[in-house]
Amino acid sequence: MGDIKILVDKCIGCKKCVSTCPFGAIVMEGKTAKILDNCSLCGACVSSCKFEAIDFTRDEVKPVDLSEYEGIWVFAEQKNNRAADVALELLGIASKLAADLETKVSAVIIGENVADNAKTLIAHGADEIYMIEDPALANFNDESYCDIMTQLITEYKPDIVLLGATAYGRSLAPRIASRLDTGLTADCTVLEIDPEEKILIQTRPAFGGNIMASIICPNHRPQMATVRPKVMKAIEPDFSRRGEVIRPQVNIPTNLNTKVLEVVSNLDSGINLADADVIVAAGRGIGEAKNLELINELADALGAAVAASRPLVDAGWIDYSHQVGQTGKTVAPKVYFAFGISGAIQHLAGMSTTDIIIAVNKDKEAPIFKIANYGIVGDVTEVLPAMIKACKERKNRG
Ligand SMILES: Cc1cc2nc3c(=O)[nH]c(=O)nc-3n(C[C@H](O)[C@H](O)[C@H](O)COP(=O)(O)OP(=O)(O)OC[C@H]3O[C@@H](n4cnc5c(N)ncnc54)[C@H](O)[C@@H]3O)c2cc1C
Ligand code: SF4
Ligand code: SF4
Repeated sequence: MGDIKILVDKCIGCKKCVSTCPFGAIVMEGKTAKILDNCSLCGACVSSCKFEAIDFTRDEVKPVDLSEYEGIWVFAEQKNNRAADVALELLGIASKLAADLETKVSAVIIGENVADNAKTLIAHGADEIYMIEDPALANFNDESYCDIMTQLITEYKPDIVLLGATAYGRSLAPRIASRLDTGLTADCTVLEIDPEEKILIQTRPAFGGNIMASIICPNHRPQMATVRPKVMKAIEPDFSRRGEVIRPQVNIPTNLNTKVLEVVSNLDSGINLADADVIVAAGRGIGEAKNLELINELADALGAAVAASRPLVDAGWIDYSHQVGQTGKTVAPKVYFAFGISGAIQHLAGMSTTDIIIAVNKDKEAPIFKIANYGIVGDVTEVLPAMIKACKERKNRG
C-alpha cells in the first residue's frame, strides 16, 4: 500500500497533524509526532504539516488492463443448499447496474447440492450461473471458498463482484480482495454507475455515520463491494427468464488449515428479526432491564420480533442478535415500534427503510419523530401497558 514516517529532524511538534488524522493514529511523543500501527495510510495528514515533516509514499500501482474485465458477479451464498435472500437482493441491484453498463449478470454458487437454485437465481436477474458442486464444499469454509472464487475471478475476469455483508460475505470478501490485490468497500448502502467513467460508485456511511462516503476503485479489478441483507430490493421474479448454467473446472483445495465440524443454528427461539413484518424495539428510554418484559409482552400480542438499540446490548440487557443499526442488523419490516429510542443516525442506519415507524418518546424534540409516521409523546412505562391491554382486548374480540 505504501509507507509513512515522521521526519524527526523536520518535525517541530506543532501537533497540527494529530487533530487531522481521522483514525487517531498520530500521537505526540515528547516534542515529536509519532505514527501508530492503526494508521490506514489514507494520506490525510500529509498536507496538514506545513514543515514537510511527514514523508508518505504510495506503492506504485501496477497497471491493470481494465478492458479485459466485464460483467457483474453476485456471490450467491447458500445455507443448507438454499441461496440466501441477500443473493436475490444483490441480483436486483446487479441487474440495474448491468443495464447501465450494457453487460450481463452472473451468480456464483458453491456448495454440495445447489443445482435447484438455478431457476430462482435466473428468475431474479442472473443471466448465467457459475455452479461449483462438490461434497467437500457443502459447508462454507473461508479458505476453500476464497480459493475457488479467486480461481474463477482470475479466469473469467468480472468487472464487479458483489457479496452479502453477512458473516460469510464479511469473511470471504476481504480474503478475495487481498488475494487479487484489489479494493473492497464494505456495507454499501448505494451502488451506482458513474455515467462517464463507467465505474462503480460505492457509497456507505463513514465516520460513525456522520458522512456518506462515495468510494471508487479506478485502477484495480474487480471492483468489489458488500451489501447488508435488506438494504437492496430483489426484483419481482420472472420464472420465464432463461439463463445458462456453467460448471467450470476448478481445483478444490484439500490442504486446509480449518475444518467445519458442525454448523449450529442460532438457538434463539424468537422470530427472526431480518424476516419480521412487525418489530417492537426498545431503547435506553425503557429505563430498566425488567421493562423488556413489557416489550416482549407487546411483541407476543402483535406476533412481532423484538429489537433493541445498542445501549441495551452494551448493558447486557439483551443479546447482540437483537441489535438494530450500523453495527447491528438491518431490518425492513412493515411496522417498527420504537420505544424510548432517540433516533441516533447509527440506529436509523438499520431501520430507516421501514414502511411505518411508530415512535414513543417522552421528549417531543427527539430526532426519531423526524422520521416516524406516527408519534406518541409519552412515558413508555405508561404507553406500553396501555398498548398491551388494547392489543389483548382486540384479540379477544377476534
Ligand atoms: C460507530 C458507532 C456505531 C453504533 N452502532 C449502533 C447500532 O448499531 N445501533 C444502535 O442502536 N446504536 C448504535 N450506536 C449508538 C448510537 O450512536 C446511539 O448512542 C444509540 O442508538 C442510542 O440509543 P437509544 O436511542 O436507545 O438511547 P438514547 O440516545 O439515550 O435515547 C433514549 C431516548 O429515550 C427517551 N426516553 C427516556 N426516558 C423515557 C421514557 N420513560 N419514556 C419514553 N422515552 C424516554 C429519551 O428522550 C431519548 O430520546 C453506534 C454508535 C457508534 C459511534
Ligand atoms: S504537523 Fe508536522 S511539524 Fe507539526 S507535529 Fe505534525 S509532523 Fe510535526
Ligand atoms: S496517513 Fe491517514 S491514518 Fe495514517 S497518520 Fe496520516 S491521517 Fe492518520
